Parts: sequence; structure tokens; C-alpha cells
Amino acid sequence: MSRYTGPVCRLCRREGEKLFLKGKRCITDRCAMERRPHPPGEQPGGRRRRRPSEYALQLREKQKVKRIYGLAERQFRTMFENAARVPGITGENLLAALESRLDNIVYRLGFAPSRKAARQLIRHRHVRVERRTVDVPSFSVRPGAEISVAPHARKFPMVIEAIEDRRSRDQLSWLGVDYEKGTGRMLERPSRHDIPLAVEEQLIVELYSK
Ligand code: SF4
Repeated sequence: MSRYTGPVCRLCRREGEKLFLKGKRCITDRCAMERRPHPPGEQPGGRRRRRPSEYALQLREKQKVKRIYGLAERQFRTMFENAARVPGITGENLLAALESRLDNIVYRLGFAPSRKAARQLIRHRHVRVERRTVDVPSFSVRPGAEISVAPHARKFPMVIEAIEDRRSRDQLSWLGVDYEKGTGRMLERPSRHDIPLAVEEQLIVELYSK
């Protein structure tokens, strides 16, 4: 499955907002959106933009969410189709499913500085779910399941730094974490207002419903 492997800051510049794909760098003045907030390939204050069409708005919203979670198109589309099959509001189901992915939970708990780094930690078999190693970043975490970082991996500078950084911020209400033990839990499946994401998921539903 093809995944974007180019410069990630380009993605933020293309979407015209910070997608927080690089961990700590995103909150410093080294962030490309601070230095060059114009789209790639354009000069600052370059061409005047026309009012985007409805389709363009829907497409951009879908691309934005896909990029935030680091998914390829086919993977994202499959998640959408699964979300449409279950009862409830499709857009909200989609976001809850994205938030339940193991790579996202590891990142949200603060064991990795970004979802990309969380994926690497998982693929290298440093993450456990209910004490069993899981090396699949897309693994869907069920409420109540214990997520832990293997004892040797808790000494990785990347993990130590990520934890230090997260400790200073509020934890999400639907997650519980014990940094001394290196464990955390998804206490419940998040509802829309528990997900700190400024996106209009309804636009994605409209795009895929065409
Ligand atoms: Fe986006 Fe982070 Fe790069 Fe800034 S540093 S442009 S927020 S990925």
C-alpha cells in the first residue's frame, strides 16, 4: 500500500494549516508553517485564489484528515466504508475509528511524539496490547484494553522526551495513563466532542457519497 514518504511539512503548507506531523518541532519557530505559510511552489502573496468549489472544499477536508492520521487513500476509504455500515453518524464513526487505531492511541497517550513515530515504535515490536506484542499500527483498540511500551523501549530518548512533553499537558478524558508503569488505557470510545480535531467530517461524507 503506497504511503506518502516525501517531506511532511509540504503537506501542512498545502493544506494551509498545521497538521502537527513532526512532534516537538511543530510547536517551535522551526515549523515550516511559521516560516513559509504559502503553498509549495507558490511565492508569498502569490496568485490570487478563486473561491474554492464545493468539491474542492470536500476534497481538501478529506486530504487533511487522511494526512493527519497518515493513511493511504485505499486504507482511508475502507475505514470510511466500515464507518458507514455501523449505526450512528458516519463522520463521527469515522473519526472514532481513526482515534481507536493503535498508532493514534500510542501518540495520544504520549509514548511517541507523533503518529509516525508511534507507527515505528509499533512496527519494531515495542508496543503491547494486553501484554501481548502487537506490530500492526492499524490495530483497533477496544475500550478498556491496556496499552504498554516494552520496558526496554521506555528508556528510548524519543519515548522519554515524548512523555516529558505530554506530562505537562492535560490528558484527554477518554484516556488513562500511568507513566511510571509505562501503561495506558482507552477508557471509552471517544465521542465527537472528545476528539480535539478542527475538521468538518461531514464534508468527507459528502465527498464519498457522490
Ligand atoms: Fe506541519 Fe509540524 Fe512541519 Fe509545522 S513542523 S509544517 S506543523 S509537520
